[in-house]
Amino acid sequence: MNSPYRKKISIVVPVFNEELNVPTLYQRLKKVLSALSYDTETLFVNDASTDGSQAVLEGIAAHDPAVKVIEFTRNFGKEIATTAGINQCTGDACIIIDADLQHPVELIPEFITRWEHGAEVVVGIRRSNRGEGFIKRIGSRLFYRILNSIAHTKLTAYATDFRLLDREVIDSFNRFTEQNRITRGLIDWLGYRRDYVHFTANERMQGIASYNFIKLLSLAMNSFVSLSLFPLRLAGYLGIIITLFAGIMGLAIFFTKYVWITGWGSSISGSAILAVIIVFLVGIVLMSLGLIALYIANIHSEILNRPMYVLRKKKA
Ligand code: UDP
Ligand code: MG
Repeated sequence: MNSPYRKKISIVVPVFNEELNVPTLYQRLKKVLSALSYDTETLFVNDASTDGSQAVLEGIAAHDPAVKVIEFTRNFGKEIATTAGINQCTGDACIIIDADLQHPVELIPEFITRWEHGAEVVVGIRRSNRGEGFIKRIGSRLFYRILNSIAHTKLTAYATDFRLLDREVIDSFNRFTEQNRITRGLIDWLGYRRDYVHFTANERMQGIASYNFIKLLSLAMNSFVSLSLFPLRLAGYLGIIITLFAGIMGLAIFFTKYVWITGWGSSISGSAILAVIIVFLVGIVLMSLGLIALYIANIHSEILNRPMYVLRKKKA
């Protein structure tokens, strides 16, 4: 029943090859959502699955008017699928949840409670991934350590995509135009009052995690590049160090060989001097690269065309 006084919660689920998980997810969602005193909609974004996911989703939507399915023409990746879901949802708040049952559906009421208590973004923080490899654990720890030390936008360690967004946050999020995006990072960039829900991630129920090591690495690289300018400046810093080092070496050689002649100075061969000169020039080239990088950094941030600031709307 649609009553004008009931708020609406949208559930956004990115789906890629999850035909075996979707029915279980739907059953569990239905149980949790029907116990809520809210209107609900569930929006599945099929990221061009190559298995029977679309048929399964359409089967569910045919029997349940609160379920909507949108389908991509090709695989655009989870970040874009999530973005599409956030764009299309109509609720007063939306909750993003993975289709593979790693995010406990039963915590949804807890997210909503936090929201009702004033949080505009509720972030699921994962305690640990059962059955997650050693490398992946160390990797994600290292990732947060490095990123937080060089990026302007701080990321909370173990923060997941399992999130609730208030309508105001959704509207602000929809202003982002950048293509290459980490949804989580953008939400963090926006600010707003946040609260956290801790949970223990389950093992993926069926199928394999589509994020393998290479994909995770490229995701990490993307985060570095989109949230920090440090990699761009690196060449410049290296250049300064090398130029200083070679410059001092060069001066030392020049003076000890030709001005106050010492044994050390006169024993230095011509090729060694040549090497110092070349290293000095390499340093200068790197410094120039760093300078160009700074200009590119400016272009980069202009091209992202992010909103310059985000204003809190006045609540009626
Ligand atoms: N997913 C997607 N498009 C992709 C890869 C994954 O929509 O190209 C979905 C997937 O169906 C799942 C969620 O994104 O609902 C998380 O994917 P996965 O479990 O593979 O990643 P991880 O749990 O390692 O973050
Ligand atoms: Mg998963």
